This record gives sequence, structure tokens and C-alpha cells, in this order.
Amino acid sequence: MGGAEKSIALVLRRLKRRYPDEMRTSLSHSNPWELLVATILSAQTTDAQVDRVTPRLFKRYPNPNSIARLRPSQLYPYTRSVNIYRNKSRNIIKAARMIQEDFSGKVPDTLEKLTMLPGVGRKTANVVMANAFGKSEGIAIDTHCITVANRLFLYRTKDAKRIEERMMRVVPKGDWGNVTHLFIALGRDVCTARNKYCERCILNDVCPSSAVKK
Ligand code: SF4
Repeated sequence: MGGAEKSIALVLRRLKRRYPDEMRTSLSHSNPWELLVATILSAQTTDAQVDRVTPRLFKRYPNPNSIARLRPSQLYPYTRSVNIYRNKSRNIIKAARMIQEDFSGKVPDTLEKLTMLPGVGRKTANVVMANAFGKSEGIAIDTHCITVANRLFLYRTKDAKRIEERMMRVVPKGDWGNVTHLFIALGRDVCTARNKYCERCILNDVCPSSAVKK
């Protein structure tokens, strides 16, 4: 174990106390389909921006059945203010079609089946699993998690899959869903890719990359 991996219980306890409202995705949704669509739309886009477009989109097209036969251009009026909206619109329609044809109209609740859907990688699938179904088969790793894990655990890789595998060995399974959002909260707050504000960080006494002298 390296870095603060040995102190994982303490790390999680402090993060939960510091960011109690950020243990789940901030993307607005009221069912697994809405979360799946919102998460696909959130790649390279802020959650706030996604939340601005989804209410209109979900009102007009509330389920996979209502989207499965659309042409991508029919979704553009609803999605065009998010990055790479053409590609995302195409993937949402293809995912809706597959859900209709292969999964009886229901968003699947396993990592294996979710990652079969177009536009759905391990990160999106893990977010949907944890936040829509309360299940965890892995840990969603985004760019904030990569930054924080590299500093806190002294990993030396940007490979999300390798970071996920290593974190799954130290983070208790019951926290696999939480740890993503807690690391994102820390990453946005004090441990950004550009700067680290260690003097304000609640982990500065256990983090081996802390700039605060012990
Ligand atoms: S102490 Fe500094 S480097 Fe370590 S997690 Fe906190 S902000 Fe990041």
C-alpha cells in the first residue's frame, strides 16, 4: 500500500464529514433512464450545464421508447448547448433502441450490460449502477479522481482502469459509490489539476503530497 491508502478509513471519514451533501451525483434525475442520459451528456461538460438542458429533454422524451426511433437531428434542439452534442445525441438514440430491443425497455443494472450500450464506458456505468440502483461493481473514475488518487495514494498513472483496480483493493465495497463523488468534491474544492490548496485541505496531515510542512 502506498501514500494514504493505509489511512483510507480516516480519509473517507473526514471526506464524508467535510462534504456530507456530495456523496451522490449532482446530476438531476428521477429514474435510471434519466440518469443514464444525463451521464452520457455530462462527458466534457459540467453537471450544471447538463442540468440546464435535461428538464426540457425529459419532458419531451420521457423514456427510451419515445427516443428510440428518432433521428439524431431531432434531439439537437435539446442537446446542442452541451459539448459534442451530435455524437452524444446519436449514442442516446442507439442506447434507447438497444434498451428497447435487448433489455425489455429497462435500463440494465449490471456493469457488463450497461457497458454494452453505445456511449457508455465503465465510468458512466459505475455512476448509473451506484446512483440509480445502489449497486457497485466498480468505482467511477473521472479526471478529479485521477488527480486526487495520484497525489493522495502516490499512484503514477492517468489510466482510469488501473486506478479503479487499485482503489477497489483498498476502499471498502460499501464506499465504492461514495468515493467517486467525495474525490470529485475534494478535487473541485482544494485539489485541482492546476493547483493544490493544501493549507485548506482536511487531509493535509495524511497526504504524502501535501505542501504543508508537518
Ligand atoms: S493535501 Fe494537498 S495534495 Fe493532498 S489531497 Fe489535499 S490538496 Fe491534494
